[in-house]
Amino acid sequence: MTGTGGDRKVGDARAAGAGRFRFFREDRCDRCGDCLVACPYLELSREEARREIASLIDTGASRALDVCHTCHTCDVVCPAQADPYELVLERWSERRRDGLPPAARLVTPSEPGNLWSSLKVVLPPDEHALLRSWEPLVPCDELCLAGFYTNVVPYLLQAKVLADLPRIVGSEALFGCAGDLYKTGRFDLVEQIARRLERVFRELGVRRVVCSMGAEAMLLSEILPRRFGAAFDFEVLSLDDWLLERLRSGKIALARKLGLRVTVHDNCLSKLQGGRLQEANRELVRRTGCDVVEPEHTRERALCCGFGAAASRFRVLDILASGHRRLRELEATGAEAAVVYCPACLFILSVVKELAGVRMPLYHPVELVERAAGGAPVRRHEERAWDMAAVIGNHLLKSALSPRYRGTFQPAPISPELQPLPELPWGDRVRMKLLTALFHGPVVQNAAMRGLISRSFRATLSRDGARRPPASE
Ligand code: SF4
Ligand code: SF4
Repeated sequence: MTGTGGDRKVGDARAAGAGRFRFFREDRCDRCGDCLVACPYLELSREEARREIASLIDTGASRALDVCHTCHTCDVVCPAQADPYELVLERWSERRRDGLPPAARLVTPSEPGNLWSSLKVVLPPDEHALLRSWEPLVPCDELCLAGFYTNVVPYLLQAKVLADLPRIVGSEALFGCAGDLYKTGRFDLVEQIARRLERVFRELGVRRVVCSMGAEAMLLSEILPRRFGAAFDFEVLSLDDWLLERLRSGKIALARKLGLRVTVHDNCLSKLQGGRLQEANRELVRRTGCDVVEPEHTRERALCCGFGAAASRFRVLDILASGHRRLRELEATGAEAAVVYCPACLFILSVVKELAGVRMPLYHPVELVERAAGGAPVRRHEERAWDMAAVIGNHLLKSALSPRYRGTFQPAPISPELQPLPELPWGDRVRMKLLTALFHGPVVQNAAMRGLISRSFRATLSRDGARRPPASE
């Protein structure tokens, strides 16, 4: 692990709040500006960074609120462990008490038309069957938690090298361990999700949880217990740790070396716990016989996949532009492929890759291990990207057509008991089917149209970047 983060963990909820903020440790902050100098999106000089952090603390006004990608870098580099990223979240929290922007409906499972319900209309039967098999919550000692965004790419967990995983359980009703709502600053909802998770895990009587998303492992082991007082009485490890242990112990035998030169994309929450997840994934990759070439921004300074760009202004174009910046940086390494170990990053980068016509293949580490073990992983990233393009297209259509949908919304409170998620409205089902038929059909999937789409996509991002639109909140 390089840099100043060490094995730093997130602040303790009971220790924080020494002052006017809930999580930001104003008492520790000397306003040095290190945090915002390191921010890869603000690009500030030392003096500008000092002014910006002072303004964010004193008045709540800062450009950080319009550009923050929730990447966690500022937290990791802060020498005083004052948690400046949480200051951004607290300021967003103040703005968003009365409602969230419409795009947040997509990642709020209790909202009709959320992305999971939309996607299920077009998933193939084998993935439907997988998701259904993961839903029953049966008491057990050990389980694998199907992650929020693993549910978008469930085919990944069919790999033969995962055959010995504990029983896979989990649905969108667990709200991805509150990761997305934490990023919006809606701490009230995060508290409610923490209570739901406490209840669910207590009733399961589980002693060990393997998280198929490393980010959720960080939420269960760090953020929810330390910031929201969640009482979890079980061991947490990530699928990455689980796989690595099996490779080290020889329980998974590799038949061949892949011999690829790959670059690695690190996700935001991998920066916690001293970058333990980052190291685990590099070792996984090397054990498959691949060489790692690092991108310009890596490990604790890694750029966001684009998803976090939504947290500031909730603009789809911000997500796509940010994802495109990251993909270009990964391509610039000259690597033959990119390894993306977070399923959320994998699906966002896959969408951008398809729209921008980027050729570099993206792999989840499970795919590399499966291939090195002599297997052939089920690989549907490209198809899923076009399914997700349909979800985004449906959202944009509804935004254009419905003033009510365009408005802010107040998510329903989340009870401690699991409740059925809302049915997908009829209109969404029809639009999803039409859009996916179009995106997967010959009208779009031909060389001329794909070329036109990628040129238009790049031109749109370039025009949008040049305009630098003002904050929308
Ligand atoms: S939050 Fe940390 S890095 Fe930022 S100004 Fe305060 S002490 Fe310096
Ligand atoms: S979390 Fe990342 S993007 Fe947000 S202010 Fe901190 S360094 Fe900048």
